[in-house]
Amino acid sequence: MIDNLPPLREVIRTHDLRAKKSFGQNFLLDLNLTARIARAAGDLRGADVLEVGPGPGGLTRGLLAEGARRVVAVEKDTRCLPALAEISAAYPGRLQVIAGDALDLDPLAHLSPPIKVVANLPYNVGTELLIRWMTPAQWPPFWDSLTLMFQREVAERIVARPGTKAYGRLALMVQWRAEARIVLSLPPEAFTPPPKVSSSVLHITRLERPRYPADPAILERLVAAGFNQRRKMLRAALRGLHPQIEPLLEQSGIAPTARAEEVGLEAWCRLARAMERPE
Ligand code: SAM
Repeated sequence: MIDNLPPLREVIRTHDLRAKKSFGQNFLLDLNLTARIARAAGDLRGADVLEVGPGPGGLTRGLLAEGARRVVAVEKDTRCLPALAEISAAYPGRLQVIAGDALDLDPLAHLSPPIKVVANLPYNVGTELLIRWMTPAQWPPFWDSLTLMFQREVAERIVARPGTKAYGRLALMVQWRAEARIVLSLPPEAFTPPPKVSSSVLHITRLERPRYPADPAILERLVAAGFNQRRKMLRAALRGLHPQIEPLLEQSGIAPTARAEEVGLEAWCRLARAMERPE
């Protein structure tokens, strides 16, 4: 037992929280498991935690039991609010629940650094938020780490290495400025109701500055063009981006006949810098 609150099945019965597909709800009801996910986020004492989509509050309870200084939890489904209010009452002053859409939230209006983000989110919202969190106007971002549940296949794309099928934009976007690893994999039966696919928890720690210098907009444009036509050689896939793309590729140590998936992060950044130089 991690706290004196009722078991989650009882919470769901009392508050009539049947999972709704429209909210992408697949709940975690095993508090030992939610405590494990909370621990995967690292030492929570002294950190504020942003939790997106607390639902009936299993992960929220894990985060509080593991010692988070404060948890700010944003939930779109107002049916969950009474259950979350009971958790707030059990941890006075440590849980703030915001009713609304995480996509509209300004985290720094509610949390103080150091900030960790932890979430078991619907998969589509998770990818959209990850892209936003990885591409802020300023680096470093508001968060120190992200601990997020993803469809296993998406998690594998994020940690993928060059030369593999899973390697692409997501891997480069995340690995350029952060360290990402899969810390836990879960079968569908871990959730109520079970989703169709397996899931993985990713832990992403930000780097103070990108691994290699590059202009973010140029790098993003290059990588997008390269992987949009991943079967093509780069001299063809990137032709539209620069009139002298072939010599630029050569200068950057990339064979013009290479394909996007064969090119590592450092070489992409070299190419982005070469594109920045006046012709
Ligand atoms: N964290 C809970 C758990 O682990 O059992 C619930 C997980 S469930 C997969 C996703 C939760 O995110 C649901 O409670 C859903 O209502 C909420 N949600 C979905 N879209 C959201 C959004 N855009 N902003 C905030 N919450 C959202």
